[in-house]
Amino acid sequence: MTQTQYDVVIVGGGISGAALLFLLNRYTDLKKIALIEKLPEIAALNSHGRNNSQTLHCGDIETNYTLEKALQVKASAQMLVNYAKRFTDTDSLLHVYSKMVLGVGEQECQSLRERFTEFSPHYSTLQLLQAADIAKIEPNVTKARKEEIIALGVVDEYSAINYQKLAESFVLQATENNKSRVDVQLNTRVETITKIGDHYAVKTNTGSLNTRFVVVSSGAHSLLFAQQMGYGKEYACLPVAGSFYYTQQRLNGKVYTVQNDKLPFAAIHGDPDILVADKTRFGPTALILPVLERGDYSTMLDFFKSFSFSLGVLKTLGGLLKVADVRNYIFKNMLFEVPGIRRRLFLKDAQKIIPSLQLDDLSFATGIGGIRPIMIDKNQARLHLGEAKIDPGHGIIFNMTPSPGATSCLHNSERDLRSIVEQLDCHLNEDALQAELYNT
Ligand SMILES: Cc1cc2nc3c(=O)[nH]c(=O)nc-3n(C[C@H](O)[C@H](O)[C@H](O)COP(=O)(O)OP(=O)(O)OC[C@H]3O[C@@H](n4cnc5c(N)ncnc54)[C@H](O)[C@@H]3O)c2cc1C
Repeated sequence: MTQTQYDVVIVGGGISGAALLFLLNRYTDLKKIALIEKLPEIAALNSHGRNNSQTLHCGDIETNYTLEKALQVKASAQMLVNYAKRFTDTDSLLHVYSKMVLGVGEQECQSLRERFTEFSPHYSTLQLLQAADIAKIEPNVTKARKEEIIALGVVDEYSAINYQKLAESFVLQATENNKSRVDVQLNTRVETITKIGDHYAVKTNTGSLNTRFVVVSSGAHSLLFAQQMGYGKEYACLPVAGSFYYTQQRLNGKVYTVQNDKLPFAAIHGDPDILVADKTRFGPTALILPVLERGDYSTMLDFFKSFSFSLGVLKTLGGLLKVADVRNYIFKNMLFEVPGIRRRLFLKDAQKIIPSLQLDDLSFATGIGGIRPIMIDKNQARLHLGEAKIDPGHGIIFNMTPSPGATSCLHNSERDLRSIVEQLDCHLNEDALQAELYNT
């Protein structure tokens, strides 16, 4: 029997792999594309709403973003909205909630006023909300509050999204009318990728695939695949898990808190859980865990392989631990996992959002929360925050995708699409891409 010759094989059926499958199928003339996912479902890991914050990041309320980063994220979010409006039943994917970032105390309030001056020319719907305005939107945020507060907020825009449903929609769009071109293999684990001449052999637990191009979008596993092929030696993967806590419904929309600019991990927020009715979720925490998948300790060995201790890694970690705020934060986040004390400790952080919260209101969200694979840049001895890509121009790309990787899935995959089109010299329907994903 002759082996199928693929143009592109995508490893990993999370939101990133699914977005690329959609783009390749819709906008190129490539004949044979495969998506290989080891789990029985699409987007069952970090891209599942259970495991991430379900936020469509637009950059307006994320105080850990510079204006430049915020505007990039805004453009990415708009692509998702454009996609959803054109190709899906929008309201089953995207949810309109109020959203705000809350400043507590004089210093945070002042920083938000300054941010409003800088950001409002780029965000026409952004408002500077005084305590009375906040009380109308989120009464529980102002109740029993003693400190000065102010917020930057948007009252009614798409702010929450079910990324798993979005990923399923990408795959459905790709497979629906083009069964012969697209091959989606679930329950199939990629074991090795080997370059043979100008092709690649992708060996799985069920067989081997021969392809001209490979894109590895397998979350925290991507770096290990890269390193096994001699790429990405300049990176180490620092997996940062995020846990959540539940209360009964206390918030009408998303309430973010101001970032401590000494910390590389995003501050917590509270919001309604779009998957669990009548619950408000608080988090995510930031726990450094020596595994590549949350709850799967068999991935510990792979973590140590891709972590590869070196001077650059030690310098980065040493640099982080030198800062008292970071040290305390890392320690506190470890304690957030310890049964018996964790709720009491987390309560203080959650009370920054809702001062009247009591210990009995909070419960740890067991089994909820994924892993953000943050890259350590060993050469620069610093964390590389946000998504990282290794594209050596040899028919293979590796994507490492911490937050806001789900919001950026189309934008990020478009870069892969353009690289593939150039390297495989195939046709790109630029007009359709611009019309469908960019024009509102
Ligand atoms: C706590 C938390 C909160 C977050 N909140 C947000 C948010 O609000 N907004 C946002 O934009 N982003 C958020 N993120 C980030 C976002 O979840 C990720 O960027 C995104 O899900 C990454 O998608 P992915 O497809 O690249 O990776 P993943 O979703 O991790 O998918 C990788 C896939 O590869 C598969 N795979 C792995 N190894 C193999 C193999 N050998 N063979 C075959 N398949 C394999 C896995 O099973 C998995 O399905 C959050 C992340 C966390 C952890």
